[in-house]
Amino acid sequence: MNPDLRNLIALQDLELNIASLQKQSSEIPSKIETLENELTRIRSEYDQKVVRSKDLANQRRTFEGEVEMFQTKLSRFKDQLMTVKTNKEYTAMLHEIQMAEEQIRSEEDKILDIMEQTENMELDLKKAEQEMLKKSAEIQEEIRKTTESAPQLESELTRLQEEKIKVERTIERDLLARYRRIANACKGVALAEAKDELCSACHVRIRPQMYAELIRTENIYSCDSCSRILFHRDNA
Ligand SMILES: [Zn+2]
Repeated sequence: MNPDLRNLIALQDLELNIASLQKQSSEIPSKIETLENELTRIRSEYDQKVVRSKDLANQRRTFEGEVEMFQTKLSRFKDQLMTVKTNKEYTAMLHEIQMAEEQIRSEEDKILDIMEQTENMELDLKKAEQEMLKKSAEIQEEIRKTTESAPQLESELTRLQEEKIKVERTIERDLLARYRRIANACKGVALAEAKDELCSACHVRIRPQMYAELIRTENIYSCDSCSRILFHRDNA
């Protein structure tokens, strides 16, 4: 293979690699931001569950307070029952006692219901906490790795840029200029592999005579259709 062509292939590999690393490097801040938002979301989801569990405990205390209040009322009514004078007063007092007992039962039912909800919620909360801690640790690790990858990417980029300059110096000027022109027009990809008589970039058939010479000689050819510089791997 023409040594200039071999150097062009090396140059294109370097440039594509550089472009990909530059893209990765530029995406780091937004990647970290996305991860941090996810971390906040997971934690606040868990916090909301904790709040709901505390609400439940508060409700239970309220109902327990009401039971106590009705029980105080009830014992007062029972005391008063001993002191009533008339039948009418006695009936009225019995009615009050019955009402208070009903209210106590109703509050106690509410407490039982809350106890059941609390039991389920405590199990759920324990599981949610473990999941939240596991996911948070994973995300924090991802943030750490991403942050640490930035200087590594930068030093790798510097190394590749230096290598690129070295390779560029080995390529004949006119050919390098032709390569640059095509690369600028073709999204950085100025070379295309010629394979099975096709240009692998635009998939247009290469004239048989040109294809034969491409394999046999060291001449540099361009694809008739997309203008990219063609190379053949078998003679690489
Ligand atoms: Zn082509």
